[in-house]
Amino acid sequence: MKRRDFLSSAITVTAASSFPVGLGLAADLQAVAPKGDKVTISEGMVSDLQKSIKGDVVLPDSEQYEAARKIWNASFDKRPSMIVQCADSNDVVSAVQFARTNNVLMAVRCGGHSYSGQSTTNGGLVIDLSRMQNAEVDANARTCRIQGGALLGNLDRAAAEYGLATTAGFVSHTGVGGLATGGGHGRLMKKFGLTLDNNLGVEMVTADGRLVKANADENADLYWAVRGGGGNFGIVTQFEFQLYQMDPMVTSFAYTFPIEAAPDVMKFYFEWDAEQPDETASSLGLRRNAQGEAAVAIGGTYIGTPDQAEKALGKLVTFGKPIIGRITSANYVTMQAAADRIYAHGRYYYSKSGFFDRVDAKLPEVMLEYFMKHPTAKAGISAASHGGAAGRVPMDATAYAHRDAKYQISISVDWDKSEDGPGWLKYARDYWSVMEPLSDGGFYVNTTDDDRENTIRKNYRGNYERLVDIKTAWDPDNAFRLNANIPPRRKA
Ligand SMILES: Cc1cc2nc3c(=O)[nH]c(=O)nc-3n(C[C@H](O)[C@H](O)[C@H](O)COP(=O)(O)OP(=O)(O)OC[C@H]3O[C@@H](n4cnc5c(N)ncnc54)[C@H](O)[C@@H]3O)c2cc1C
Repeated sequence: MKRRDFLSSAITVTAASSFPVGLGLAADLQAVAPKGDKVTISEGMVSDLQKSIKGDVVLPDSEQYEAARKIWNASFDKRPSMIVQCADSNDVVSAVQFARTNNVLMAVRCGGHSYSGQSTTNGGLVIDLSRMQNAEVDANARTCRIQGGALLGNLDRAAAEYGLATTAGFVSHTGVGGLATGGGHGRLMKKFGLTLDNNLGVEMVTADGRLVKANADENADLYWAVRGGGGNFGIVTQFEFQLYQMDPMVTSFAYTFPIEAAPDVMKFYFEWDAEQPDETASSLGLRRNAQGEAAVAIGGTYIGTPDQAEKALGKLVTFGKPIIGRITSANYVTMQAAADRIYAHGRYYYSKSGFFDRVDAKLPEVMLEYFMKHPTAKAGISAASHGGAAGRVPMDATAYAHRDAKYQISISVDWDKSEDGPGWLKYARDYWSVMEPLSDGGFYVNTTDDDRENTIRKNYRGNYERLVDIKTAWDPDNAFRLNANIPPRRKA
């Protein structure tokens, strides 16, 4: 059966076997097609979709709509034509089939943390996975099956119940769906690899509305692509992750120095960090406190006890004259959620970042000089250490193409409604324009706001053409286009 026949027969069966359930739609729904033109969806089609799924269809006139349409970053105040809150993978199949049959633009939402607002749309249909957060651990096999709408906290907590862990990011309300399809940087990545390196296989809904498995044995091309290619290839409804035995307690360390010491601290940091073992996850940050006082800090996590950490951290423990310096034992799961409130939902956020495969001699000076130009507490810059196990994976083993990165440097600003948003955007962009020439030109697809085709092509390096082949095979119409998009080849 051809794809179009399959889609229309699936919808016809649904339509014939159900009755409108009274969504209160006074008229047909106006929506937006993938290419931006307007489409009209009949009230009956929408009602049939609601009848056929376990979850809910939320429409603009519904009481739940305002809450349902919001994503983490208030900068993206968009109004989808409908939101399908899926309860299981069958609902995701129905939602994709509905979107394809009615030619509606799809956005896919897990944790809603897309920095570029790709998980919502004006006029399109949001496939919201946030009800799908179930996690099941097989303690003997040391694996976790987790649904595609889960948050990092769901993964960390489920694994920790069995004394296990795997790499996840630094803020526990971030979604597994976006993080694990694009990368997955975190405290454990030097020890256990990126989150996507621990992806053993997925179940996903493809652009033609089928639920398929992708792993090393089945649909291996899709499995390769979904580890780094982001949301381009379909909607993951379930991941299976490798877990590792880990003591629930790790060591947290933080050394803060006066800003006057920054040149020495920064020089020290990059030399010191290069010698650190895989157990150490560190970063260097320039920040200001609420009073506007600037400081430079080295901090991070060591997988081991404070005594072991003290030995491994070596010269850091006695370096310079810190304002505060501490090494403490910390519960890993608690630490993973410690920054949650700093990155609260509903504020305005912007970030520019990139990868650095080497530390240019000028880098500390440039980083510091521009930071000092802005004397308020709003902006910060950090260099997070990469490498270790994540760096030892061959560049073409997965779609993720930045194994050689030594650091990811990020400039972040955030503000609320009453503040000068455009001013902050300009600040971050100007700052990045002086940092970028010192980078290796690569960036993390999960944090970029630059989705121009040429930029994405360059960023995937030698993996790009294979990604285009796989996209062409699995999503020839570019149905999944709200992402760091890899367009399929044009049809002959
Ligand atoms: C506060 C904060 C902290 C962060 N910290 C880290 C960090 O420590 N490490 C790190 O690596 N990254 C980090 N990131 C970046 C993060 O990886 C991306 O923002 C990611 O896209 C968030 O995933 P999400 O599911 O919450 O996003 P969503 O906005 O829900 O989705 C973003 C995109 O991901 C795709 N997607 C989502 N779910 C699925 C799915 N189930 N199947 C297929 N595609 C899907 C879709 O294309 C969607 O447009 C952070 C981001 C924020 C905002």
